[in-house]
Amino acid sequence: MPSVISSMFALTCPRCRRGELFPTSSFGFDKPFMQYEHCPKCGNNYFPEPGFYYGAMFISYIGSAFFCLGFIMLLHWVFEWSTASSFAALLVVAGLVFVWWFRFSRSVYFHLVSKYDQEMTKAVDAGTLSVPEPKPTSQN
Ligand SMILES: [Zn+2]
Repeated sequence: MPSVISSMFALTCPRCRRGELFPTSSFGFDKPFMQYEHCPKCGNNYFPEPGFYYGAMFISYIGSAFFCLGFIMLLHWVFEWSTASSFAALLVVAGLVFVWWFRFSRSVYFHLVSKYDQEMTKAVDAGTLSVPEPKPTSQN
């Protein structure tokens, strides 16, 4: 059975830990903010209420603030880069990871507020569920 941490990083459904949350790759930059409306494997509703992922914004904000601070301090103080080149490097890194970070924040939040159902993972693996093909959300 996948652990909660590996499921968070794999961006999979918190209930069955098998179905993908997002239809496209985090680093392909194709339809970056599109998410499935329900789990393709167990049918778990990915949007249980309007504004459900509001809380993910705080995870994203806190995490990225500390990451940016740490990154600049490391380059500037440890590697003695100039302030301008440290910030230039930060912009490049932030540009590369921001889609992944958006998705990871949603994944962490969703896992924090959801219960894991081991029976669901077993049912998915056994192939006994019939779940309709999920539509991706219309946003981008
Ligand atoms: Zn699922």
